[in-house]
Amino acid sequence: MSSKKELIISKIRSGVVIDHIPAGRALLVLRMLGITGREGFRVALVMNVESGKLGIKDIVKVEGRELTKDELNLIALVAPTATVNIIRDYEVVSKFKVVVPDVIEGLIKCKNPRCITNQQREPIRSRFRVVFREPLKLVCDYCGTIHDLGDIEKSLGIT
Ligand SMILES: [Zn+2]
Repeated sequence: MSSKKELIISKIRSGVVIDHIPAGRALLVLRMLGITGREGFRVALVMNVESGKLGIKDIVKVEGRELTKDELNLIALVAPTATVNIIRDYEVVSKFKVVVPDVIEGLIKCKNPRCITNQQREPIRSRFRVVFREPLKLVCDYCGTIHDLGDIEKSLGIT
């Protein structure tokens, strides 16, 4: 019992704790952040622990790392229930829920090779509208191609 508790609450000095991740998606969140384990960050993954809100949940902690707005948007896509805690000197200095954006710009490639955002001669920033959150569905603003979570993973080179 005590070791289980320790696993969940052991503190980090500074960095981020991403809590309330839907169970089974912690690895996906790490990959969204481009963290493979080779960067030298101290990373803790807690998977399938009890949560009052979600039943079971995952938690990711990364020491010495902060998150950009783009990264928060990507996390929101795969873990719309996530709560982010920013830690400095062992204290939570900021805590907030991620917000699933209505529009995602420039982060994901459209899977339609003929889409104008994939033309090399006149590169246009990709733009997707979030039409459904769970399960995730994005539609390309330029060609109307629908993308699901698997497409996004491919676009980010995750699979
Ligand atoms: Zn497109």
